Amino acid sequence: MAKIFCIANQKGGVGKTTTAVNLAAGLAQLQQRVLLVDLDPQGNATMGAGINKAELQASVYQVLLGMADVKTARATSETGKFDVLPANRELAGAEVEMVELDNREKRLKAALAEVDADYDFVLIDCPPALSMLTLNGLCAAHGVIIPMQCEYYALEGLSDLVNTIKKVHAKLNPDLKIIGLLRVMFDPRMTLSQQVSEQLEQHFGDKVFKTLIPRNIRLAEAPSYGIPGVSFDPTSKGAQAYIQFGAEMVERIQSM
Ligand code: ADP
Ligand code: MG
Repeated sequence: MAKIFCIANQKGGVGKTTTAVNLAAGLAQLQQRVLLVDLDPQGNATMGAGINKAELQASVYQVLLGMADVKTARATSETGKFDVLPANRELAGAEVEMVELDNREKRLKAALAEVDADYDFVLIDCPPALSMLTLNGLCAAHGVIIPMQCEYYALEGLSDLVNTIKKVHAKLNPDLKIIGLLRVMFDPRMTLSQQVSEQLEQHFGDKVFKTLIPRNIRLAEAPSYGIPGVSFDPTSKGAQAYIQFGAEMVERIQSM
Protein backbone atom coordinates (compact mmCIF):
# COMPACT_ATOMS: atom_id res chain seq x y z
CA MET A 1 0.00 0.00 0.00
CA ALA A 2 1.30 3.44 -0.92
CA LYS A 3 1.96 5.95 1.84
CA ILE A 4 0.55 9.31 0.83
CA PHE A 5 1.99 12.60 2.07
CA CYS A 6 1.00 16.22 1.49
CA ILE A 7 3.72 18.85 1.36
CA ALA A 8 1.76 21.78 2.72
CA ASN A 9 2.16 25.30 4.06
CA GLN A 10 -0.26 28.05 3.09
CA LYS A 11 2.62 30.48 2.69
CA GLY A 12 4.19 30.79 -0.75
CA GLY A 13 7.91 30.54 -1.37
CA VAL A 14 8.69 28.40 1.68
CA GLY A 15 10.14 25.45 -0.23
CA LYS A 16 7.12 23.16 -0.75
CA THR A 17 7.76 22.45 -4.41
CA THR A 18 11.53 22.13 -3.98
CA THR A 19 10.87 19.63 -1.19
CA ALA A 20 8.25 17.69 -3.15
CA VAL A 21 10.42 17.34 -6.29
CA ASN A 22 13.66 16.55 -4.47
CA LEU A 23 12.11 14.19 -1.95
CA ALA A 24 10.55 12.35 -4.91
CA ALA A 25 13.94 12.12 -6.64
CA GLY A 26 15.70 11.22 -3.37
CA LEU A 27 13.23 8.41 -2.67
CA ALA A 28 13.58 7.17 -6.25
CA GLN A 29 17.35 6.91 -5.70
CA LEU A 30 16.56 4.75 -2.67
CA GLN A 31 14.66 2.38 -5.00
CA GLN A 32 11.23 3.59 -3.87
CA ARG A 33 8.40 3.78 -6.40
CA VAL A 34 7.12 7.37 -6.28
CA LEU A 35 4.21 9.35 -7.72
CA LEU A 36 4.45 13.14 -7.41
CA VAL A 37 1.06 14.86 -7.61
CA ASP A 38 1.18 18.52 -8.62
CA LEU A 39 -1.84 20.22 -7.01
CA ASP A 40 -0.70 23.77 -7.74
CA PRO A 41 -2.04 25.50 -10.90
CA GLN A 42 1.40 27.15 -11.21
CA GLY A 43 2.70 23.73 -12.33
CA ASN A 44 6.14 24.31 -10.81
CA ALA A 45 6.55 20.72 -9.64
CA THR A 46 5.58 19.52 -13.13
CA MET A 47 8.20 21.74 -14.79
CA GLY A 48 10.80 20.99 -12.12
CA ALA A 49 10.39 17.29 -12.88
CA GLY A 50 11.11 18.00 -16.56
CA ILE A 51 7.55 17.76 -17.89
CA ASN A 52 6.30 20.55 -20.12
CA LYS A 53 3.11 21.88 -18.54
CA ALA A 54 2.10 23.52 -21.84
CA GLU A 55 1.92 20.17 -23.66
CA LEU A 56 -0.09 17.96 -21.33
CA GLN A 57 -2.55 15.49 -22.86
CA ALA A 58 -4.30 15.20 -19.50
CA SER A 59 -3.57 16.50 -16.03
CA VAL A 60 -4.73 16.36 -12.43
CA TYR A 61 -7.48 18.79 -13.46
CA GLN A 62 -9.20 16.19 -15.67
CA VAL A 63 -8.66 13.59 -12.93
CA LEU A 64 -10.37 15.73 -10.28
CA LEU A 65 -13.31 16.40 -12.55
CA GLY A 66 -13.68 12.74 -13.51
CA MET A 67 -12.72 13.26 -17.17
CA ALA A 68 -9.55 11.12 -17.02
CA ASP A 69 -8.06 8.54 -14.70
CA VAL A 70 -4.63 8.68 -13.07
CA LYS A 71 -3.28 5.92 -15.30
CA THR A 72 -3.96 8.02 -18.40
CA ALA A 73 -2.91 11.37 -16.98
CA ARG A 74 0.36 10.39 -15.31
CA ALA A 75 3.70 11.05 -16.96
CA THR A 76 7.25 9.95 -16.13
CA SER A 77 10.03 12.26 -15.00
CA GLU A 78 13.01 10.94 -16.95
CA THR A 79 15.34 13.23 -15.01
CA GLY A 80 14.00 12.18 -11.61
CA LYS A 81 12.96 8.54 -12.17
CA PHE A 82 9.50 8.95 -10.68
CA ASP A 83 5.97 9.39 -12.02
CA VAL A 84 4.13 12.71 -12.05
CA LEU A 85 0.45 13.55 -12.10
CA PRO A 86 1.02 16.95 -13.71
CA ALA A 87 -0.76 20.29 -13.47
CA ASN A 88 -1.05 23.56 -15.33
CA ARG A 89 -3.16 26.73 -15.24
CA GLU A 90 -6.30 24.81 -16.12
CA LEU A 91 -6.32 23.51 -12.56
CA ALA A 92 -7.24 26.96 -11.25
CA GLY A 93 -10.74 26.39 -12.65
CA ALA A 94 -11.20 23.19 -10.64
CA GLU A 95 -11.90 25.09 -7.41
CA VAL A 96 -15.11 26.49 -8.84
CA GLU A 97 -16.06 23.55 -11.04
CA MET A 98 -15.80 21.05 -8.19
CA VAL A 99 -18.33 22.94 -6.07
CA GLU A 100 -21.21 21.18 -7.80
CA LEU A 101 -19.74 17.69 -7.56
CA ASP A 102 -20.50 15.04 -4.96
CA ASN A 103 -17.80 14.23 -2.43
CA ARG A 104 -15.76 17.14 -3.70
CA GLU A 105 -13.14 16.96 -0.93
CA LYS A 106 -12.38 13.33 -1.67
CA ARG A 107 -12.01 13.26 -5.43
CA LEU A 108 -8.22 12.97 -5.37
CA LYS A 109 -8.39 10.23 -2.74
CA ALA A 110 -10.78 8.23 -4.91
CA ALA A 111 -8.63 8.71 -8.01
CA LEU A 112 -5.40 7.66 -6.26
CA ALA A 113 -6.95 4.44 -4.95
CA GLU A 114 -6.75 3.09 -8.46
CA VAL A 115 -2.90 3.28 -8.59
CA ASP A 116 -2.26 2.43 -4.93
CA ALA A 117 -0.43 -0.81 -5.76
CA ASP A 118 1.94 0.93 -8.18
CA TYR A 119 3.78 3.06 -5.59
CA ASP A 120 5.53 3.07 -2.24
CA PHE A 121 5.14 6.84 -1.85
CA VAL A 122 2.71 9.39 -3.24
CA LEU A 123 3.81 13.00 -2.60
CA ILE A 124 1.31 15.82 -3.10
CA ASP A 125 2.67 19.32 -3.75
CA CYS A 126 -0.04 21.67 -2.40
CA PRO A 127 -0.79 25.24 -3.52
CA PRO A 128 -0.10 28.14 -1.12
CA ALA A 129 -3.64 28.36 0.26
CA LEU A 130 -6.01 26.39 2.45
CA SER A 131 -8.28 25.90 -0.56
CA MET A 132 -10.45 23.10 -1.98
CA LEU A 133 -7.37 21.78 -3.78
CA THR A 134 -5.35 21.61 -0.55
CA LEU A 135 -8.38 20.03 1.15
CA ASN A 136 -8.35 17.31 -1.53
CA GLY A 137 -4.68 16.73 -0.76
CA LEU A 138 -5.31 16.52 2.99
CA CYS A 139 -8.25 14.13 2.53
CA ALA A 140 -6.14 11.81 0.38
CA ALA A 141 -3.09 11.72 2.68
CA HIS A 142 -1.84 9.72 5.64
CA GLY A 143 0.32 12.59 6.76
CA VAL A 144 1.53 16.13 6.23
CA ILE A 145 5.10 17.33 5.81
CA ILE A 146 5.42 21.05 6.58
CA PRO A 147 8.47 22.81 5.16
CA MET A 148 9.48 25.90 7.12
CA GLN A 149 12.15 28.54 6.87
CA CYS A 150 13.87 29.29 10.16
CA GLU A 151 13.04 32.97 10.20
CA TYR A 152 11.29 35.30 12.58
CA TYR A 153 7.82 34.90 11.05
CA ALA A 154 8.10 31.14 10.49
CA LEU A 155 5.56 30.22 13.14
CA GLU A 156 3.06 32.85 12.07
CA GLY A 157 0.23 31.14 10.21
CA LEU A 158 1.35 27.71 11.38
CA SER A 159 -1.59 27.57 13.80
CA ASP A 160 -4.05 28.07 10.90
CA LEU A 161 -2.53 25.11 9.10
CA VAL A 162 -2.47 22.98 12.27
CA ASN A 163 -6.14 23.85 12.96
CA THR A 164 -7.13 22.94 9.41
CA ILE A 165 -5.30 19.61 9.76
CA LYS A 166 -7.11 18.97 13.08
CA LYS A 167 -10.50 19.71 11.50
CA VAL A 168 -9.82 17.46 8.52
CA HIS A 169 -8.66 14.74 10.91
CA ALA A 170 -11.86 15.05 12.98
CA LYS A 171 -14.38 15.33 10.17
CA LEU A 172 -13.02 13.98 6.91
CA ASN A 173 -9.87 11.90 7.28
CA PRO A 174 -9.12 10.12 10.59
CA ASP A 175 -5.83 8.80 9.10
CA LEU A 176 -4.34 12.28 8.78
CA LYS A 177 -1.50 13.36 11.03
CA ILE A 178 1.38 15.80 10.99
CA ILE A 179 4.45 13.75 10.13
CA GLY A 180 6.84 16.55 10.74
CA LEU A 181 8.23 20.02 10.27
CA LEU A 182 11.12 20.22 7.82
CA ARG A 183 13.60 23.03 8.28
CA VAL A 184 14.53 24.31 4.82
CA MET A 185 16.76 27.04 3.34
CA PHE A 186 18.73 26.74 6.54
CA ASP A 187 21.74 29.02 6.96
CA PRO A 188 23.92 27.78 9.83
CA ARG A 189 25.90 31.04 9.84
CA MET A 190 22.82 33.01 10.86
CA THR A 191 22.21 33.24 14.58
CA LEU A 192 18.50 33.75 13.93
CA SER A 193 18.31 30.49 11.94
CA GLN A 194 19.92 28.66 14.87
CA GLN A 195 17.58 30.28 17.41
CA VAL A 196 14.37 29.58 15.48
CA SER A 197 15.56 26.05 14.78
CA GLU A 198 16.10 25.44 18.50
CA GLN A 199 12.69 26.93 19.33
CA LEU A 200 11.06 24.56 16.85
CA GLU A 201 12.80 21.59 18.50
CA GLN A 202 11.71 22.76 21.96
CA HIS A 203 8.07 23.26 20.93
CA PHE A 204 7.55 20.35 18.58
CA GLY A 205 10.08 17.77 19.79
CA ASP A 206 10.34 14.75 17.52
CA LYS A 207 7.81 16.29 15.12
CA VAL A 208 10.83 18.18 13.77
CA PHE A 209 12.69 16.10 11.20
CA LYS A 210 16.33 15.41 12.02
CA THR A 211 17.41 16.34 8.51
CA LEU A 212 18.12 20.03 7.89
CA ILE A 213 17.91 21.31 4.31
CA PRO A 214 20.54 24.02 3.77
CA ARG A 215 20.14 27.03 1.53
CA ASN A 216 21.91 25.83 -1.60
CA ILE A 217 22.09 27.59 -4.94
CA ARG A 218 22.13 24.33 -6.92
CA LEU A 219 18.62 23.51 -5.65
CA ALA A 220 17.42 26.88 -6.94
CA GLU A 221 19.16 26.51 -10.31
CA ALA A 222 17.96 22.98 -11.10
CA PRO A 223 14.27 23.75 -11.93
CA SER A 224 15.19 25.90 -14.92
CA TYR A 225 16.76 22.78 -16.48
CA GLY A 226 13.75 20.60 -15.64
CA ILE A 227 15.96 18.44 -13.45
CA PRO A 228 15.44 17.79 -9.72
CA GLY A 229 18.36 19.21 -7.71
CA VAL A 230 19.10 15.71 -6.42
CA SER A 231 19.89 14.56 -10.00
CA PHE A 232 21.23 17.91 -11.29
CA ASP A 233 24.18 18.03 -8.90
CA PRO A 234 24.17 14.90 -6.73
CA THR A 235 27.26 15.99 -4.80
CA SER A 236 25.83 19.37 -3.73
CA LYS A 237 24.93 19.91 -0.09
CA GLY A 238 21.28 20.43 -1.02
CA ALA A 239 21.05 17.17 -2.98
CA GLN A 240 22.76 15.23 -0.19
CA ALA A 241 20.34 16.68 2.36
CA TYR A 242 17.25 15.65 0.35
CA ILE A 243 18.61 12.11 -0.09
CA GLN A 244 19.15 11.99 3.65
CA PHE A 245 15.59 13.25 4.14
CA GLY A 246 14.37 10.47 1.84
CA ALA A 247 16.12 7.94 4.07
CA GLU A 248 14.52 9.54 7.14
CA MET A 249 11.08 9.21 5.50
CA VAL A 250 11.69 5.56 4.59
CA GLU A 251 12.59 4.97 8.24
CA ARG A 252 9.49 6.85 9.46
CA ILE A 253 7.04 4.82 7.42
CA GLN A 254 8.32 1.60 9.00
CA SER A 255 6.72 2.74 12.27
CA MET A 256 3.48 4.09 10.74
P1 ADP B 1 6.85 27.03 -2.60
O1 ADP B 1 6.52 25.82 -3.41
O2 ADP B 1 6.55 26.86 -1.14
O3 ADP B 1 6.23 28.29 -3.14
P2 ADP B 1 9.53 26.81 -3.73
O4 ADP B 1 9.96 25.41 -3.48
O5 ADP B 1 9.03 27.14 -5.10
O6 ADP B 1 8.45 27.25 -2.65
O7 ADP B 1 10.75 27.74 -3.31
C1 ADP B 1 10.70 29.15 -3.44
C2 ADP B 1 12.03 29.64 -4.00
O8 ADP B 1 13.10 29.31 -3.13
C3 ADP B 1 12.37 29.00 -5.34
O9 ADP B 1 12.98 29.96 -6.14
C4 ADP B 1 13.35 27.90 -4.97
O10 ADP B 1 14.24 27.61 -6.03
C5 ADP B 1 14.06 28.50 -3.79
N1 ADP B 1 14.52 27.47 -2.84
C6 ADP B 1 13.77 26.53 -2.22
N2 ADP B 1 14.50 25.78 -1.38
C7 ADP B 1 15.78 26.25 -1.49
C8 ADP B 1 17.03 25.89 -0.85
N3 ADP B 1 17.10 24.92 0.04
N4 ADP B 1 18.12 26.59 -1.21
C9 ADP B 1 18.04 27.60 -2.09
N5 ADP B 1 16.92 28.00 -2.71
C10 ADP B 1 15.79 27.33 -2.41
MG1 MG C 1 5.14 25.60 -4.98
